[in-house]
Amino acid sequence: MFTERQNHLAKIQKQLISSRQMPLNPLTNTEINYFLNEFSSCDANNFSKSGLGEREGRIFSPIVQSRHFGFAHGIGRSGDLLEAQPKAAGSFQMLQITEGMVLHSLKLAGFQTVKKCLMVPVCTGMSFFFVLTALKLKRVIWLRCDQKSVPKALELGADVVEVVDCIIQDDSMVCDYKKLQVLMESKQFDCVVSTTSCFAPRQPDDIKIIGKLAKLNNMKHIVNNAYGIQSELIMKELNNCEDAHVVISSMDKNYMVPVSGALIYSRNKALIEQIGQLYAGRASASGIIDLFITLLSLGQTGWNQVLEQRKRNFDNLKQKFKAKTVNRNEISMYVPGTNEEIGKLMFKSGISGSRFNKNGSELKICGRILKDFGLHGEGGISGYLVVAAAIGMKENEIDAGFLEYEQQ
Ligand SMILES: *Cc1c(COP(=O)(O)O)cnc(C)c1O
Repeated sequence: MFTERQNHLAKIQKQLISSRQMPLNPLTNTEINYFLNEFSSCDANNFSKSGLGEREGRIFSPIVQSRHFGFAHGIGRSGDLLEAQPKAAGSFQMLQITEGMVLHSLKLAGFQTVKKCLMVPVCTGMSFFFVLTALKLKRVIWLRCDQKSVPKALELGADVVEVVDCIIQDDSMVCDYKKLQVLMESKQFDCVVSTTSCFAPRQPDDIKIIGKLAKLNNMKHIVNNAYGIQSELIMKELNNCEDAHVVISSMDKNYMVPVSGALIYSRNKALIEQIGQLYAGRASASGIIDLFITLLSLGQTGWNQVLEQRKRNFDNLKQKFKAKTVNRNEISMYVPGTNEEIGKLMFKSGISGSRFNKNGSELKICGRILKDFGLHGEGGISGYLVVAAAIGMKENEIDAGFLEYEQQ
């Protein structure tokens, strides 16, 4: 009995190490705990007394020790986020398996041609700042999407920012591709930043059109796919986008983990490695441990299930709320003609992403003022409720939220 169990665990461990893929079926909590201990026990802080004068891997509190499953070395070395740390062989192996499982999850979500993924301990906005500065992209065209993280990153990292407002088209807010083309052909910019996960009525930017223009004009194309891993359409488009150089997604919004970091990924392996080598210093492994645990407890079947369930939730929400959908936006929809009170109530009752947008606010970015911030473009569509089908959402949450809504 005992050896049977040992053989079973050894087999899974061997498979994880050699395939670096998600297991087909979910692992149990006991199994996952076993692997966490197996890997962390290969780190020097757990098998030897820290050496004389050693500054790393000392943990005072047993609570902190257990919160991190004994992993204390983080990832990377001072000059490279992807370099192995000799004192932390277990952490490094855990990191490699997690990267493999994340790539696997991206492929299952539709982006089959993805080659390399960097897992960084800062969120989407700061990751943009990091990528822009690492690749020395100083003159940026930003396709306006009214969420503050990326414009703040541009304010930090860029010298010149040209903003392309969305325009109203078919009851949605759509990128002004004509204006974009003129700007790109002016050859005054290093890169274009597009957004593929956004609240309706904004349409996700068409990365195929933008990628072609980027290639023609010899510019980098950085894609803000904050929570778009759950959109099969976007993930599949990434395969056919001639030049989507770097894609950035949030860990928490796509993988049901606490806020902790972001994924920076691409079909271009060398480019991601170049960015990883420019990371200054070591980094926390906290978010990576959370992904390691979550992807093992989902397995391929669990991951496919949550992606499928989300699609069903979208259809369900659309039907219940009689919401308007927006071309290519598979995650959120909107209900026109609602008021602020309903928006607040819906938010309280937990309909993910429900909000009421009012105009009148402004945002300053690199010396210019964006009017009607929140509407994705000056004079944009306003006065609606956004309803989003986020990954992990339960059917009873939809029912409860809709009940609140109906009572208004
Ligand atoms: C969440 C989100 C971001 C990133 O926010 P962070 O807190 O930096 O992860 C950026 N853009 C959009 C559209 C988002 O939804």
